[in-house]
Amino acid sequence: MAEVNMEQLLNCAFCPNMCRSECPVLQVTGREAVAPAGKARISALLNEGKLDWNEAFLEAVSNCLGCRGCTIHCPFPDLNLCDELLYTRMKADSKGIGLPILDPYLNNLKKYSSPYGQKTGVISTANRDADFLIFNGCTSLANNPASIKATMSLLDRAGISYQMIEEDCCGYPAQVWGNQELARHLAAENKQKFRASGASTLVTSCPECWLTFTDRYPDLDQALPLEVIDGPSFFFNLVKEGYLKPKKKADGEGLGILSYHDPCIWARTARKVNEPREIIEKIPGIKLKEPLSSKDHTRCCGGGSMFQLAFPGTASAIARRRLDEFPQKAAIITACPFCREGLLQEDRPVWELVELLEQFFE
Ligand code: SF4
Ligand code: SF4
Repeated sequence: MAEVNMEQLLNCAFCPNMCRSECPVLQVTGREAVAPAGKARISALLNEGKLDWNEAFLEAVSNCLGCRGCTIHCPFPDLNLCDELLYTRMKADSKGIGLPILDPYLNNLKKYSSPYGQKTGVISTANRDADFLIFNGCTSLANNPASIKATMSLLDRAGISYQMIEEDCCGYPAQVWGNQELARHLAAENKQKFRASGASTLVTSCPECWLTFTDRYPDLDQALPLEVIDGPSFFFNLVKEGYLKPKKKADGEGLGILSYHDPCIWARTARKVNEPREIIEKIPGIKLKEPLSSKDHTRCCGGGSMFQLAFPGTASAIARRRLDEFPQKAAIITACPFCREGLLQEDRPVWELVELLEQFFE
């Protein structure tokens, strides 16, 4: 089992804490206990045996979106506070301590392989020879099947042969909530299904799934035997190589102002900030304006690390704070199912990138 790094944790615990201006959880709650250094202090004291493991301390160290906003000002380049907090939650799980609010979702994962319950939007294609395997992720399957239809339609128009299989959750909710055993089980199920598909390339438009496949599966001894490509790069390449072109009569002017919200993982981990913008700007007449914080300085929508299930009130306040950074009345485009959902708070359109492409590309 991965273990906490006490040296890094103590660096953070006693740091001047310049990152507090970037931590969305601290910004909306005002609780020092959930500031980055506050969580580091509690984690350090728990791991040193100076605090008793209990639900209240677990609640504090679970108040992290995994957004890595704190890295913007952090003087310790090797510190991955999100992971240190995750290892602390894993330790809490091994001691039988959990957050009761997560029980229904964990039970759903065990029973249905989806945190949302019985899978309703299951889509599978019979195209067993295709090299590309599209992984939609349980949030799109449960809450936005329109984005899956848009993906299928775009791939058909591009003439790309692909397959979709009956997916199990990638396992990341179980992992961020500290349940390694369940996360490993789901990873092993998926690995077996991916291998059986015969595909050589796995494509996912969900950043959390992408990070799970590329970074977390190796930690679970479940490294995948196929290449994993992020959705923004995949569609960028289809456009760049001419498989998809703006429709002849495409005219984005009627949409008014558009603004792109960078999902934290695509921006700060995968470094995919130019690809979505370059695709959007190919639509004639489009007016794209940046929000106050963008690209690798983006701010989380409140949906990272399944936060909206664990802390719905705080997640919603974080989303409203993020929405204030966008030009008034601008429709928002993003490239993550959690961000779309989190930002759908007001009477303004929020689309996933593939939904926009489906309207304007052929
Ligand atoms: S995350 Fe970095 S900047 Fe923030 S308190 Fe910890 S060490 Fe300091
Ligand atoms: S990853 Fe995001 S939510 Fe977590 S401590 Fe850092 S800034 Fe705060």
